[in-house]
Amino acid sequence: MLRNDKRLIERAEQVVPGGVYGHMSTYLMPDGVPQYYTKSKGTYLWDADGNKYFDCLSAYGPNLLGYGNAQVQDAIRNQLEHCDTMSGPSPLMVDLAEAMVDMIDHANWAMFCKNGTDATSIATTIARAKTGRSKIVVGRGIYHGCLPWSTPSMEGVQPADRMNLIYFDVTDMDSFTDAVRQAGDDLAGVIVTPYRHEVFGDQHFFPQEMAQLIRKSCDEKEAVLILDEVRTGFRLSVGSAWSEHGVQPDISCWGKMLGNGQPISAVLGTDEVKQAASSIYVTGSFWFSAVPMAAAIETLRQVREGSYFKQIMAYGRRLRAGLEDRARAFGFELSQTGPVTMPQILFREDPDFRIAYRFCQLLAQNGVLFSPYHNMFMNAGMTDEAIDGVLETSEKVFAELKDTRGNIPAIPDRVTEKLNKRKPLLGLGQKQKLA
Ligand code: PMP
Repeated sequence: MLRNDKRLIERAEQVVPGGVYGHMSTYLMPDGVPQYYTKSKGTYLWDADGNKYFDCLSAYGPNLLGYGNAQVQDAIRNQLEHCDTMSGPSPLMVDLAEAMVDMIDHANWAMFCKNGTDATSIATTIARAKTGRSKIVVGRGIYHGCLPWSTPSMEGVQPADRMNLIYFDVTDMDSFTDAVRQAGDDLAGVIVTPYRHEVFGDQHFFPQEMAQLIRKSCDEKEAVLILDEVRTGFRLSVGSAWSEHGVQPDISCWGKMLGNGQPISAVLGTDEVKQAASSIYVTGSFWFSAVPMAAAIETLRQVREGSYFKQIMAYGRRLRAGLEDRARAFGFELSQTGPVTMPQILFREDPDFRIAYRFCQLLAQNGVLFSPYHNMFMNAGMTDEAIDGVLETSEKVFAELKDTRGNIPAIPDRVTEKLNKRKPLLGLGQKQKLA
């Protein structure tokens, strides 16, 4: 029973518009997934009623090394003793910029902010400052943040907020070429994520040719290529994601995992766009706070050591293979897509997501937090034993799903309604045929 959680939701409805807003709202989750948490450790969360969960959502990305990672906690505590938010940055800002420039191939400079949305918005502003042009080519339905130019909802958004965006279908190279042609000589830049990781659908890797075509078009047009690594950062590689395609962006955006949960994001760029970056005016009251920077420096140190990467790869493989076997044994076919470190787990022959929703609902009732529509994130606070525990739980859940297969309830109406409203904006590709 989630008595305290329910009470908190009721109280929040009185004093917080929408209760919890945005991606952390459980509005789109199956009933029974808790909204509020009171404790985190490693890969575990405790809800407001004291129930413990294996959390595969990893705070939707920020939990890279494990909640409460000992060395990151030490760095935070130590920095808190000295200073945090002041009338100027601490020297850590320079240390952190140097660390990022050393680690990321294309980076000659770094700017810091708080959220991924800050980073992507700054990046597009720099592209416009650099080129003196207005159009940005952007993948349809790709999430780059929650400001009017990027939010997946049109409530409160004016067409003028988006009139300088030209959308392309990220699975279709011709549509990219068309978008660039449409921009003519007013193309400031292209913003793209390393692969397609949108909600309610299978994830798509872009072929190498696509990355190369985007780079080539930006070069020809003298436009700025922005790679949005806010979600993928350090989960695809210990560096820039498109290095494996031989493609370097002019600007990249980082956030989420950078401080292992501390609020900090970054924009990195090449020398060619440095002057433009220094010409724009961007700032925030908390952007120079020292504690998140101390956390980021320690996170990057562990990232450079690289052992976390082997771990999250191994945990991801173990989970994917184990779920595949168990699903099959009970007569289900999963559609597991995306990198193993950022798994998207849907069911085949589940056009209205009802099996996925029931699966995640039963998992939550048994102490495992999975998402039926959003990619999840592996973290280094997981262990083989913990993954095996999830697999054991999944067996029980698959068994119940099998027994009740003909009677699985439809997903809540609120989810269908919201989805249908957002469908055109989400650019849903695969599994969007909701009634
Ligand atoms: N870009 C991408 C690719 C993202 O996944 C996100 C967040 N999910 C953002 C930008 C925005 O980041 P934030 O929520 O920190 O503003």
